[in-house]
Amino acid sequence: MRGTRITAPIAAGLAAAALALSVHSLRTAPDAALVAQAWPATAVLTAMLLLFPARHRRISVGVVALIVIAACLVAGRGLLFTSGFALANAIEVLVVLRWLRAFETDRPQLRTSEDYRRWLIGVFTASSLAATIIAITTGLTGGDALWRPFVWVTLTHLGAMVVALPLVMSRPRHRIRVSPAEVASHLVLILLVGLACVRADRSEPVAFLMLPLLMWAAARFSPRWASLELLTVALGMSLLDNLQLGPFGDVTRESSLLEMMASSQAFVAIAAITPVAFSVAPGHLYDSRRRIREHEVQLGQLLDSASGTAFIATDLEGLITWFSPGAEQLLGYTGQEVVGRITPMSFHEYRELQSRADQLGVAAGYGVVTHRVAQGTDQDTQDWTYLHMDGSRLTVSVSVTAVRDDDGRPQSFLSVVRDVTDRRAAEQALVFALDKERETNQRMLELDRAKGEFVSTVSHELRTPLTSIIGYTELLADDLSENLTEVQCQLVERIDRNGERLLELVEDLLHLARVEDGSLRLVRARTDLCGAVRAGTEEVRADALKGGITLRVSTPGEPVLLDGDSDYLTRLVLNLVDNAVKFSSTGGSVEVRLEVLGDVAELRVIDTGMGIPVAEQPRVFQRFFRSSLSTEYATQGSGLGLHIVRSIAEAHEGRVDFQSTPGLGSTFVFVVPLSGWRSGVGDQASAPQPADSQQQKSF
Ligand code: ADP
Repeated sequence: MRGTRITAPIAAGLAAAALALSVHSLRTAPDAALVAQAWPATAVLTAMLLLFPARHRRISVGVVALIVIAACLVAGRGLLFTSGFALANAIEVLVVLRWLRAFETDRPQLRTSEDYRRWLIGVFTASSLAATIIAITTGLTGGDALWRPFVWVTLTHLGAMVVALPLVMSRPRHRIRVSPAEVASHLVLILLVGLACVRADRSEPVAFLMLPLLMWAAARFSPRWASLELLTVALGMSLLDNLQLGPFGDVTRESSLLEMMASSQAFVAIAAITPVAFSVAPGHLYDSRRRIREHEVQLGQLLDSASGTAFIATDLEGLITWFSPGAEQLLGYTGQEVVGRITPMSFHEYRELQSRADQLGVAAGYGVVTHRVAQGTDQDTQDWTYLHMDGSRLTVSVSVTAVRDDDGRPQSFLSVVRDVTDRRAAEQALVFALDKERETNQRMLELDRAKGEFVSTVSHELRTPLTSIIGYTELLADDLSENLTEVQCQLVERIDRNGERLLELVEDLLHLARVEDGSLRLVRARTDLCGAVRAGTEEVRADALKGGITLRVSTPGEPVLLDGDSDYLTRLVLNLVDNAVKFSSTGGSVEVRLEVLGDVAELRVIDTGMGIPVAEQPRVFQRFFRSSLSTEYATQGSGLGLHIVRSIAEAHEGRVDFQSTPGLGSTFVFVVPLSGWRSGVGDQASAPQPADSQQQKSF
């Protein structure tokens, strides 16, 4: 059985001993009113219960009551007294066990000052509680002056318990080395005082000489030794009492309180309480010291193993008191060379120290490093330049903390030092690279702006001669064609077509330049989107017809009004429908559908053309994008149309999306909010607006 430290025969032997001692004590009571001569039974029984496993203790309290009942009956005490006495003993044992936490732990402890306090309160409370119950019982059975049984029972029970319990409780280990001479002289003195007690007259308080000897044992020898010595002394004193010898007086029903306090029982109680405290203190100290030592070892191992970090401890003046292996590795010095010999100033670069000292307004010494912490900051971390023993320079990050006393005054300093040479170099390289990149970006922006300006200027300059070339070509084609041969007519038509294309390109470039430098402005007014759809579609109808492509347009029967720029909206429609026609082949169809869906208008341009390869679709709205299919089929274009479409859509708070399947066709969708005006019968679409209802918006 786990936790059992007692066998059945031993338990039976202890129970029998407790019974015999109880009968003897009851029979030799100085007076029936004082109950018993002494009461060792309570100590034997409680100690016995402490030897049981914790879970059996509660029920075993019944055994205590039974033994007390048996002893009282054998000693011829009455039924009322027997019941009261048994109840008192059982409650006493229960209270002690509870205070010692004996129902939760197999081996109650008497190791720390807190244990000692609980033990003392436990035995005092239990014995005075038992004494109260017994005094009441005595009163009920006809006794007078109830304080006497109360004091006497308290003393006898207390004395028995304080001697016996420490023997079976868990005590601290004691490692004080004592010489045989000390042990021998101690024993001789105990023996001499013991003999003096035997021979002492009752008026000679020689027994109290025993107290310093018992404390000596408790302070210097093991707690177990001290407890056994105490037990021996207690038994010796009781024996002398029984033999009517020794320095202690008899106690009777007439004894005064002082006489009772001069009895052997009072002596035993006092003699036990003080030495136990003495044995707890050094044991407690030993336990704490062992724990601190363990922590020190663990911490030392931990810090030693942190080879990437250096730990340097100093006293207040800066003298190094500890130099970790990490510090040895970092700085090249050994602990022996620096501890107690130099300060960390030897690692510092004087000029750096001097300049920080000037900033702080202090002298250029160790105080510069510890200044902030000495002023009360918990931790101060700064970069420093350290000099390695071989003369090389390191950039280190030093975190300084102070070890403070209870009043918060620094007692020493600890520096945690990390080599950050590489990290700082990398950071500097990064800063340098970022500066460079910023510079390059700036230059690129300037280049871009210059390019934009160039494109814009060139386009402007091109537009005028181009317009006149186209004008003259049209004049040739329309009015002077009868003077031309058929071949000349074809050439003129080709010049006109290419001139138109060139003009479109110039227009696109101009538009792009305006979008990018923010100089393009919308002229907003109430606009009918149906009109823009019709105008944009009409411009490509001829091309569709020529290419054999069916073009279908459907718009709502009423105006679709929005706050927008009709020229740009027409251009948006034109670009989308032009693409649909351009990228469809003969026999194909293009459907242009405008619908109003709640608060938005939706324009769909659906074609059955070549479509756009899936992998290229994310780039469709980028400037100058041309799909591989359109290049393959040599379809003409600048790659600016959709970019312009998107910029116009966004300027109207709308958006453009598309779906496209290569070989099957594409659908481009323009969605724009109809905030402002709703469509309505009788609305004059695109009617001239008062000047102040027109707004300009740049995009
Ligand atoms: P452009 O038509 O002048 O080349 P856009 O910006 O209008 O320039 O169009 C970019 C590219 O997107 C086109 O070159 C073409 O490859 C592709 N694309 C646009 N619309 C369609 C469409 N309806 N069908 C197939 N490809 C299209």
